[in-house]
Amino acid sequence: MDGQARTPSGLPPASSLRYSLAEAQPLLQSSTILPPQHFSGNPLDRTYDKRRKFDGTSKQEEVSLVVVAAREVCIRESPGAGGSASSQSGAFGGAAGGGQNTSAGGASVTAAADLQALLLSATDPELDLNSESICLTWVYGDVAYQLPLYLLGQDRTERWTFALDVSDCRSAFLDFLREGCGLGSGVALADLRAALPQLSRDAAAIAGQATSLSQWHQSHKFCPRCGSPTAPVESGLRRQCVSEAGHKQYPRTDPVVIMLVESPDGRRALLGRNRKFTPGMYTCLSGFVDQCESVEEAVRREVFEESRVLVANVAVVGSQPWPVGRYGGCELMLGCMAQARSYEVLVNTDEMEDVQWYDKDELRAAVQMYDNAAAQSASAGGAGGAGGGEGEGVADAPMSVAQLQEASLEQLGFFIPPPLAIAHHLIRTWALHDGPWFPPGPPTPPAPAAAATGSAAQAEDGAAAKL
Ligand SMILES: [Zn+2]
Repeated sequence: MDGQARTPSGLPPASSLRYSLAEAQPLLQSSTILPPQHFSGNPLDRTYDKRRKFDGTSKQEEVSLVVVAAREVCIRESPGAGGSASSQSGAFGGAAGGGQNTSAGGASVTAAADLQALLLSATDPELDLNSESICLTWVYGDVAYQLPLYLLGQDRTERWTFALDVSDCRSAFLDFLREGCGLGSGVALADLRAALPQLSRDAAAIAGQATSLSQWHQSHKFCPRCGSPTAPVESGLRRQCVSEAGHKQYPRTDPVVIMLVESPDGRRALLGRNRKFTPGMYTCLSGFVDQCESVEEAVRREVFEESRVLVANVAVVGSQPWPVGRYGGCELMLGCMAQARSYEVLVNTDEMEDVQWYDKDELRAAVQMYDNAAAQSASAGGAGGAGGGEGEGVADAPMSVAQLQEASLEQLGFFIPPPLAIAHHLIRTWALHDGPWFPPGPPTPPAPAAAATGSAAQAEDGAAAKL
């Protein structure tokens, strides 16, 4: 960018043809209240127009393949061992490279694991990057697998990066990586949710994109409009059905609202738990956004459904991509602060085991448990977790998390989720904020049950009157 005019903010002018979003990323400050969350901050440049221009390559350039199988991603323990791994010869004529290259040197030195990507020459005969459905041919015994590739973007060295889906031959491919590529038993296909605490922020974001995209392809093999088979097109950026109509489908993300509900007096917050949670864990209420529903409406509806508490003000304060969603989908968590207009809680036992108000002091103590563990971990030499943020050090020590949660349960009677989840940051941000988050509202309406009956009756009256 040298020699180009710069704006006072230090950013190059938008008219610059060489402007790269990935390059500018570190200069772009987030205006949200919550800090950047895990799974965000993907270092790949996935500007859509740039990815669409990928039309195969005949150049002697290197491409990087992130190996995935459903929600599993190929990782290598201890990035310190990456040098030896990347010096091994790959089976495709290229090198089986260390994940630190995939993340363009952005991996945290404290991460206990990193992505194990495959580095291949773009002209490798096993690679087909010039068809609509790009793939890697892998021969194992008598079987030739056509393993699908999906374009993810370009890393900071402008190297094209792809997801390589090995779901059809998971175990055999893992054996091949360990023995055929000489990467040894330190390489594994690990569930992304379980591996998250060990991964650097860059690696987690790339892995989230890779597993989400390949799972979407796996689950959209038939056209929802006409039932015809579909096939990947544009290097896996979307799918298209084989009928004459050629219906297009694009990777989907499901929006989820997750909210810290503040009591009308600003002194308490509403947390709940469902039966599937680890015993003792209480967290923010959440739920999927319905069709044709605003974020504010979704927050009010979900809180009412789960607790019968009425919500007035809603403010979005941050977001988190969540590629390890409940039903195998990729979710986008929309983090909100919400102001209740009522106190009475009636737990919807179909959905929740318990919902209750917590005092600010109780939540401060629950947050403090994580900070104490992080400080302890730091003084023991295991400091500075991925991202280096508050309480983040704990993310690198899963045992410490389990121990601190046990201690929290013993001392406080509950614990809150770890910093990997946006719920932790909603609770932390609210608990450490002095005074009410929202200015006091008008007097609270009648008790929720009465209010619900009343509003339903009014709505019916209104409908009847119109008819
Ligand atoms: Zn169709």
